[in-house]
Amino acid sequence: MKKLLILGAGTAGTVIANKMVRKLPAKEWQVEVVDQDPVHYYQPGFLFMPFGIYGEKDVVKPKKRFLSRKVNLRMGTIERIDADTNKVYLENGDSVHYDLLVIATGTTPRPDEIEGMEGDDWGRDVHEFYTFDGSCKLARRLREWKGGRMVINVAEMPIKCPVAPLEFAFLADWWLTKNGLRDKTEIHYVTPLSGAFTKPVATERLQHMLDERRIHVETDFAIGSVDNDKKRIVSWDDRAVDYDLLVAVPTNMGADAMERSGLGDELNFVPTDKETLRSLARENIFVIGDATDLPASKAGSVAHFEAEILEENLLAVVAGKELEARFDGHSNCFVETGYGKGMLIDFNYETEPLPGTFPFAKLGPMPLLKESRINHWGKLMFRHVYWHALLPGLPLGIGPHMSLKGKRTDLLKRNSPVLAGAR
Ligand SMILES: Cc1cc2nc3c(=O)[nH]c(=O)nc-3n(C[C@H](O)[C@H](O)[C@H](O)COP(=O)(O)OP(=O)(O)OC[C@H]3O[C@@H](n4cnc5c(N)ncnc54)[C@H](O)[C@@H]3O)c2cc1C
Repeated sequence: MKKLLILGAGTAGTVIANKMVRKLPAKEWQVEVVDQDPVHYYQPGFLFMPFGIYGEKDVVKPKKRFLSRKVNLRMGTIERIDADTNKVYLENGDSVHYDLLVIATGTTPRPDEIEGMEGDDWGRDVHEFYTFDGSCKLARRLREWKGGRMVINVAEMPIKCPVAPLEFAFLADWWLTKNGLRDKTEIHYVTPLSGAFTKPVATERLQHMLDERRIHVETDFAIGSVDNDKKRIVSWDDRAVDYDLLVAVPTNMGADAMERSGLGDELNFVPTDKETLRSLARENIFVIGDATDLPASKAGSVAHFEAEILEENLLAVVAGKELEARFDGHSNCFVETGYGKGMLIDFNYETEPLPGTFPFAKLGPMPLLKESRINHWGKLMFRHVYWHALLPGLPLGIGPHMSLKGKRTDLLKRNSPVLAGAR
């Protein structure tokens, strides 16, 4: 019996396990997944918890419930991969042999990477919302908030869901207004980027929205430390931003096990072919989701699109064929903007988020890069889609490749590789 071993049963690991167990011949292949945590978190919900929109029951479910019964779920912490002998070693001393390996160990926020972040203010006036515990603590802190300087800081890129900190700023503006605290609160958005977002057309639109909401933006700020005594964050070039409440998005890193295995880059992300999703290190190791070093967004939607490509390529390996499926970096993300509205962005490696309509040119119904109520409902609906269609690995009606249908391509320069590469 051969083994397809999947490391991590988060979004990406669960989707690919469910897809592969349906396709691989059960008499020849066993599908096994290893994870250290029995709980599956709906991470996009962490954004809503500080504002009391979602609670524990909306974001926490047992992992086992979302994996096919034919998938073997092994609980344990991965210590390292020995790619020479095709073995994975667990912290409890067990080792697991594999024929094909998929790394899906994701990324986690690492406040320990920033000097002073885990100081006296940590959990008091310095918080994060990228983990379940962090989001719960921030919810409690906001309930006591009377006003002051709220600073939202992104430490460095890449981070998972790169729009989430902006969404937090928009929701904070809405929530403070609703609770009569907006005039008593300054909101500062402090980013290492040169603008509000990574791509020019979206940045222009988002900057306008931040200005409208009186959210001050501090760009090119590379955080070096948190000074707990003076309540300020300090950049490497000695700029300082004072806070009463710091909402931090710390450095995001891949699993330490990748470093121990000699398979990770300086942030423990695994070097991966951006089209085939095969690791650059070994032919029988593939990578999916946030664990990769791909220049795509680290998002659940991306993990889902990647899974469609990876499924084809794993089946090609099993059949002894060439890898033919190619990932184009497709990402599709709702951006909650507060006041019952949201935006939608759809892009890939080559095409930046553009205005237009989605998924159809004339019928829409969802506007791209524009606030609307339907996009807000799309964002809330995504939770149900996530549990009931995305995790089981069912088709979502949006193919893995980005389409230019409905997009304002006239905004792109002529002869751009975007148009040449689009399907
Ligand atoms: C605040 C926030 C908002 C977000 N909003 C959105 C959104 O609106 N839309 C969207 O598409 N995405 C969103 N995301 C991103 C999305 O949740 C992630 O991109 C997605 O979960 C990535 O899936 P993954 O499987 O790669 O990683 P994960 O789902 O994080 O899974 C990794 C798994 O690996 C396991 N693991 C790691 N190391 C080890 C080890 N050493 N031993 C054993 N097990 C291990 C972990 O326990 C975990 O189960 C958001 C994320 C956050 C934090």
